[in-house]
Amino acid sequence: MYYKTHTAYCFSSNCPTHGKSLDVIDFVMHKESCSKHEAIELCKQLIGGEAPVPKVEQLTRTAVLTKMFTYFKNTVYNSKPAQEYLRSRA
Ligand SMILES: [Zn+2]
Repeated sequence: MYYKTHTAYCFSSNCPTHGKSLDVIDFVMHKESCSKHEAIELCKQLIGGEAPVPKVEQLTRTAVLTKMFTYFKNTVYNSKPAQEYLRSRA
């Protein structure tokens, strides 16, 4: 299970998912052995009937770039190649 991408992957060599990355709907479809439509309906039930209308976050250009910069800045700590590159560029 991959939290960040909300996907799942099965490493079994004889899995019916055939090494394909699964999103939430696909996961339910395989787990419940049902059609995609049934999986969607099941997921709708799980969240109480109707899917909530997502609140569209309106961000200014500066806010978007600030968010992206913060995200990438934080990922530098986990990336050895990025740290090496930054060191090489002083
Ligand atoms: Zn499997």
